[in-house]
Amino acid sequence: MLRIDDLVVRYGAVEAVNEVSLTVAPGELVALLGANGAGKTTLLRTVSGLVPANTGAITFEGIDLRATKAEAIAAAGIAHVPEGRRIFGGLSVEENLILGATTRGRDADLDEGFARVYELFPVLQERRNQGGWSLSGGQQQMLAIGRALMSRPRLLMLDEPSLGLAPILVRQVLDAVRSICDGGTAMLLVEQNARAALRIADRAVVLDRGRVAREGAADELADDQQMRALYLGA
Ligand code: ATP
Repeated sequence: MLRIDDLVVRYGAVEAVNEVSLTVAPGELVALLGANGAGKTTLLRTVSGLVPANTGAITFEGIDLRATKAEAIAAAGIAHVPEGRRIFGGLSVEENLILGATTRGRDADLDEGFARVYELFPVLQERRNQGGWSLSGGQQQMLAIGRALMSRPRLLMLDEPSLGLAPILVRQVLDAVRSICDGGTAMLLVEQNARAALRIADRAVVLDRGRVAREGAADELADDQQMRALYLGA
């Protein structure tokens, strides 16, 4: 469904992404792992049309994303939750969710969207009329993911959803990510918490200074000696 071939993205002289190829199949959860500065955020931003690629190809369901503007990429079914949540503190939980449905225009069935988000994150239903500012960090992350789901994406890209969360919330958020995927939404999940990501992913790709260093089935990578020594802190 998403296919990236030999992608190169430079910021001036910095090669942030260097000949990266990867795919995400329908219904698949692919984790994109690697240290700070490995190029993970740049790769997501390039798929979303926020950063131009230098060379290579990106296609989504046959559409050439390099020739497509960011708004049209979102309308084609790709949602992106950037690092740092960025919810609207002055709006209520429900108003934040409604904003997520705007790419669907008049097709949006808000009640169906709310029901889906509240089933995944019941605490958001309890707080639906409260201001975004009043939510905890974990709840803000849930709202950011919920808002993205309101557009009914076929591919959801999440940038570091576990960043700054207590371990119990990391588990809760990542379990929800898995269940979104099980509901039929493909996922590209950027995580620095490699161990937690491998627990829920089908496959993983490890970037190292812009290049693919490792890739494979998540359970195999989790058991791999070299992977454990380099990326899993074991
Ligand atoms: P992080 O987890 O810190 O976000 P990352 O794996 O997502 O790391 P990127 O943020 O994509 O990595 O950064 C890849 C490289 O590109 C780094 O060397 C970074 O310093 C550089 N870089 C990122 N954004 C810019 C920018 N706007 N201008 C110049 N260089 C940038």
